[in-house]
Amino acid sequence: MNIVLRAFLYFILSLNIFAQTGFPALTLKADTLIRTALRDSSGYKLLGELCKIGPRLSGSDNSVKAAEFCRDAMIRLGYDSAWLQPVMVPRWVRGNQETAVLYSSKKKIKQLSVASLGGSVGTSGKLSAKVIEVGSYDELKARASEAAGKIVFYNVKFDQGVENSFQGYGKTAGYRVTGGIEAAKYGAKGFILRSITTRNDNTPHTGITYYNDTIPKIPGLAIGIQDADYLSVRLKTDKNISLTLEMNCFNGQDAPSFNVIGEMRGIEFPDEILTVSGHLDSWDKGDGSHDDGAGCVQSIEIPELLNRTGYHPKRTVRCVLFMNEENGSRGADGYAKYILNDGKKHLLAIESDRGAFTPRGFTVERDTVLIQKLQKYLPLFRKAGIEWIEKGGSGADISHLKNVNALMGYVPDSQRYFDYHHSANDVFSEVNQREFELGTAAMALMVMICDSEDLIK
Ligand SMILES: [Zn+2]
Repeated sequence: MNIVLRAFLYFILSLNIFAQTGFPALTLKADTLIRTALRDSSGYKLLGELCKIGPRLSGSDNSVKAAEFCRDAMIRLGYDSAWLQPVMVPRWVRGNQETAVLYSSKKKIKQLSVASLGGSVGTSGKLSAKVIEVGSYDELKARASEAAGKIVFYNVKFDQGVENSFQGYGKTAGYRVTGGIEAAKYGAKGFILRSITTRNDNTPHTGITYYNDTIPKIPGLAIGIQDADYLSVRLKTDKNISLTLEMNCFNGQDAPSFNVIGEMRGIEFPDEILTVSGHLDSWDKGDGSHDDGAGCVQSIEIPELLNRTGYHPKRTVRCVLFMNEENGSRGADGYAKYILNDGKKHLLAIESDRGAFTPRGFTVERDTVLIQKLQKYLPLFRKAGIEWIEKGGSGADISHLKNVNALMGYVPDSQRYFDYHHSANDVFSEVNQREFELGTAAMALMVMICDSEDLIK
């Protein structure tokens, strides 16, 4: 096609798009923003650098290094200010021993693929016991008398039958969180948990497990799902099966750590705050690229991306990276307290903590009138892949913030998140550059629209 004709057609087509959205100036800004995010991919490169530091377990040296790295990145990107907010966090140490060996009578059958659960106590030497497999707490209760002195094996499968994988996760995560308490009630000596994952590999997926002070604390491990299936079959065919666990993880003293806060001040209403956020701590098997390095770096890039593409917000855009979401939420609590009486007007907080996948939607809490107001901008949001804006829970950290008018969760596609979640699979090479940057653009677009159209009071 003739190049002049092509240019002309493109121009006409653009006019049509403008006519459809009804806000030509904003549309032009949205287009520039999305194109720039996708083409520059500067956030993606920054995520690569952050993840080179390694996993960011709360209380670890790496997590503090990562906080300093993110603060320095904000300064380098031209933020007006960036600082570390001190918080004390729990410090759990995995140690270098986490094994589960399967025996039949005295004969070693197999070393299983396992990972200590976060917060678990160790085994103080070797812990050998017979195994009882259960599929639910109800079954455990019904067979309570069999559990005493044994290792409880929660073989609860991830529900793959639901479109939203977070629903599947929600159905099984409880066994990880309170499985030790429930098993110890009946005198069990330890527990192992079928990994909560959507991926058919043998990688164990860790995550927090909790105790209470009235029931003995027993060690807990996650087991890869292929080994979980293997163990289940062996238990059905061999009465002499036992497990020997050896773990030297422990809970240390609380350690000093930091939230990272940075902002670019608004040119008209600097005391009105629009916040973008993620959590900087991670589990320690991978490098926490999806959970939640991605959410952090998307948030770091947003204020700067807006400026880079020529949109200068009326309000202050603040980036907050919370420490310790995974095992205590101390960062969220500390920040919530910090902003409670700071004399600022906190209009909006968005959290990105569901991986760096293709944008799908936003969930909104509190200011639900905002949902209605945002509907007419959907043609703009669709340019960044966002198809819906609905009422729903926002994020584990920002839900602690009492004086923010509107809370939002950024919701990417959920099909692959639990392939990676809390496991050695969660590494930078598994982050897709375009999906990651499109997420950044979608959130930046949300900030820009709320700001330029004065949608939140
Ligand atoms: Zn997370």
